Amino acid sequence: MLLLRQRSSKFRKKSWCREIFFRRRKAIATGGGGGMFHSVEHGNLATVPRAAEIEFAELADSIGEHDRRYYRDGAPTIGDGEYDGLRRRMEFLLEKYPALRRLHVPAVGDDRMDKFTRRPHLAPMLSLNNTYCEEDLRQFIGRVEKVSGGETEFAVEPKIDGLAMAVIFRDGRFAYALTRGNGAEGDDVSANVRTIGELPMEIQLAGTVEVRGEVYVDRENFLRLNAMRAEEGLEPFASARNLAVGSLRLLDPERAAERRLRFIAYDIGCGDGQFQTHSQVLCTLRSLGFPTNDHTVCRGAEETWRAVVHLGSCRRDYPFDTDGAVVKVNGRALRLLLGAQATAPRWAMAYKFSPERAETILENITLRVGRSGVLTPVADLRPVSLGGTTIRSATLHNGDDIARKDLRIGDSVIVERAGEVIPAVVAAVHAKRPPWATPFTFPDKCPACSGSLVRIGGEVACRCLNCDCPPQIFRRIQHFASKDAMDIESLGPQRISQLMDAGMLLHFVDIFRLNRSALASQRRMGDKSADRLLGAIEGAKKRPLWRLIHGLGIPHVGAETAKILAGKWPSMEKLMDLSGEQLQLCGGIGEVVAASAVKFFSDGHSRRLIAQLAEYGLSMADGEAAPKGDVAGPFAGKIFAISGTFAAMARDAIGEAIAARGGTVRKSLSKKIDMLLVGESPGSKVAEAEKLSIPTVDEGTLMGWLGVDGSAAAGI
Ligand SMILES: [Zn+2]
Repeated sequence: MLLLRQRSSKFRKKSWCREIFFRRRKAIATGGGGGMFHSVEHGNLATVPRAAEIEFAELADSIGEHDRRYYRDGAPTIGDGEYDGLRRRMEFLLEKYPALRRLHVPAVGDDRMDKFTRRPHLAPMLSLNNTYCEEDLRQFIGRVEKVSGGETEFAVEPKIDGLAMAVIFRDGRFAYALTRGNGAEGDDVSANVRTIGELPMEIQLAGTVEVRGEVYVDRENFLRLNAMRAEEGLEPFASARNLAVGSLRLLDPERAAERRLRFIAYDIGCGDGQFQTHSQVLCTLRSLGFPTNDHTVCRGAEETWRAVVHLGSCRRDYPFDTDGAVVKVNGRALRLLLGAQATAPRWAMAYKFSPERAETILENITLRVGRSGVLTPVADLRPVSLGGTTIRSATLHNGDDIARKDLRIGDSVIVERAGEVIPAVVAAVHAKRPPWATPFTFPDKCPACSGSLVRIGGEVACRCLNCDCPPQIFRRIQHFASKDAMDIESLGPQRISQLMDAGMLLHFVDIFRLNRSALASQRRMGDKSADRLLGAIEGAKKRPLWRLIHGLGIPHVGAETAKILAGKWPSMEKLMDLSGEQLQLCGGIGEVVAASAVKFFSDGHSRRLIAQLAEYGLSMADGEAAPKGDVAGPFAGKIFAISGTFAAMARDAIGEAIAARGGTVRKSLSKKIDMLLVGESPGSKVAEAEKLSIPTVDEGTLMGWLGVDGSAAAGI
C-alpha cells in the first residue's frame, strides 16, 4: 500500500507509460528529489555548466533549510507557492543535467526529530505529486487511462492541510502511531496521538492493521489557540498545519491534549486484496469508527475536473483548511498496476488551489493592546475583496515581521488568506512604492496610555507595563467574564465598554460591586436586563475553582493548566502558598508555568485582589459549592478516570460536576484511580482498568449519583 501527500512537486512530462513497464527500476532510482538512491550512473559533473552547478547547490541548500523549518519546526518562512517554485527549478536542473544528482539532493520532507523514538513503516509512506496547473492534472488522468485502457474512476477529496500519520493496531488495539518521517521510518508520537478524542483506540479487526490519515487542527480551534497565544505574548502559529505539527512534537501529552488535535482516516492496510475500491476502504474505515473525508467518485477527465473545481468553490465550508483536491484512482487493482515512483505513487495527484491574493494599499499600521499588555501591530488596509469577503485589516504579528518584510505605510501590498481564514500581508510591491511611503517605527510609549513599553526576555512581543492601561483593563474584564473562564452571560464586550465608559468598571473585581439602580439607569438597560446581568454575576460566584484561576489571567496559565491546578489543589488558599517545586510535582506543569503562578500569587496586589473576591462571596475552593449532603456522597475524595462519550453530558461537564462534589478526574489510569466512568465507545482504558482491578461505572449509575435525569441534561 502506497500513499500520501506532501508538498513535493514534480513535473515529469516524459514518456511516462513506457517507464512503468520497461524502466521501472531506473525510474525508481532517478524519480524526483530522492537522494536516497545513488547507484545509477548520471554522467560526469564536468559536463554541467559552472553556473548551473552553483545554482543547484544553492537551491539544494535553501530547500533543505526550508524543509527543516516546515517539517521539523512547523514554522515556515516562505509560502507553499514559493517553495514549490524552488523545487520545480531544482527538478528542471536535474532533468537537464542529470550529473547534478552526484551532488547532495535534499530528500523530500524529512520530518524526523531526535527527541522521538523512530520506527520503520510497514510500507513506504510516500508523498503526493502536486500541481497548480489544470493541464498537469489532465495529463495525469490521461496517463492513467492509457494504462487502464479507457475511462477510469477517480475519487476526489479535499486535501487537508495537516500532517500524515500511520496508526498501527494489533489485534484490535492501538499499538503506536508514526509520522511520515523520511518515508521509510517515522517518529513514534503515540503519546500525543492517543490524546485525539475521535481516534478509536480499539477496532473490530484482528491482526496487524495500519490506518493512514491526516492529523489536523480545525479552523475554530486554530483561531482560539492563536488568540490565547497572542494574549500570552507568544508568536501566533502561521497556519493550522503548523499548529498541528507543533502539537505532535510536544513532549508533554497533556499539553498536546490542550491543542485538541483531530484525525481523518483515508486508507487502511490489512492484507491485500480485501478491498476493490477506495470507496470501500472509506466505508470500512467509517464502520470501524474512524472519521473519514468527503469524497466524490468521478469518471474520466471532464467529470473529475468539474469535481475539483466544485471542491475549490466550497472549500471554506469545511471545518479544516484545505489548499487543494486530491485525485486518486478509485480501483485498487489499477493502483497496483500503476505503482509508484521513488517518492510518490503514480495513481494519485494533488491539485493545489492558488492561494487567494489581492493587492491593496497599506493605509496605516496601528497597535492593538492585549490583556497582558502585548502590543500587536495591525495593518489598516484599503478595503479589498478577497475570497468573497472584504478585508480591511490584517495582522502583522510583530515589529520584526514588519521590518523583515520592509513594509511602509503607503505601500502597495499583497494580501493573502493564509490558512484560508486569517488575512496576512505577504509582501510590499516595492516597485510601486510612492515617495511618501513611511517606515513604521515601534513607539516607545503605549499608544493607549503613554505607559512605557518593554521587551521581556526572549519575547518577540512588546508589552505596555501599565496595568491601568484602558484596553488592557477591557480585555482582562472580557477574559474574566468569557465563556472559557467565569462564564458570565450577558456581560459581553459591548456591555463591558458601556460600563467602563460609565466609570462603573475599572477592574473585573468591580463586576461584583455593580448594583441594580445604577445599572438600570444605563442606556439600553432596563430593570429586566439589569436583573438578568446581576443574576448571571451571582451565578458566577459558585463556579468551579479552575474557572476563577483561569479568569485571573495569570500569564501562561490557560484553562487546561487551571484545571490541573484545581484538580490537585482544590483550594485557592493552598494554591497561593505553593512553591515552584511543589507546583511542578503536578503532571503537566512545567517550569515556566510554575514560576509564573508563583510570581502572581506572591504579589501583594494579586493577594489583595483574591481577598476582595472572597469577600464578595466567590467560591475559593471546590466542593464548597455543592450542598453538604453531596460531599459525603460517592465523590468526596475519590479519583475518577473517564473513557468514552456520554449521551447526557459532555465530558467537561461531568468533570466539573464531580469536582463540585469533591471528587477529582484524572486523564490517565493508574492504581490511584478509584473508579472508571465508562460511556459510549470507550477505549482501551476498560481493559486496563480490569487489569488494575478498578471498578467501572456506567452512564446510568453516574447520572443517578449526579442526580441528573439523562434526558433533561442532554438539552443543557
Ligand atoms: Zn498602555
